[in-house]
Amino acid sequence: MLEPQGWPLRRLCPDEHEELASQQRQAAKEQIYTKTRAQDYTNNLDFLNKGAVVQCNNCQTTLDANKKFCPECGTPNVAAQTKEKFCADCGASVKPGQRFCAECGKPQ
Ligand SMILES: [Zn+2]
Ligand SMILES: [Zn+2]
Repeated sequence: MLEPQGWPLRRLCPDEHEELASQQRQAAKEQIYTKTRAQDYTNNLDFLNKGAVVQCNNCQTTLDANKKFCPECGTPNVAAQTKEKFCADCGASVKPGQRFCAECGKPQ
């Protein structure tokens, strides 16, 4: 049985265009959706980071939790200084706020 040449192409082309356009619309939607979700995710991270922000005990300036001193007044940031430190001289554990090494007496 002979089919007229080009008939399937003429028949398929509009459908394929329609299908492609539909897929592109769907892909665009998904991209927007993914972007939105990515933004939400980042916002959540920002929110979590904000939770870690602390205020200076002295001047109430907002401090990064990992900054050791207030950039405004130089007051030690307690939250950042609760991390254990070690004496540069003898390697002994030095507690936050400890001014001299308990092992070797070196100023910290
Ligand atoms: Zn301060
Ligand atoms: Zn020491």
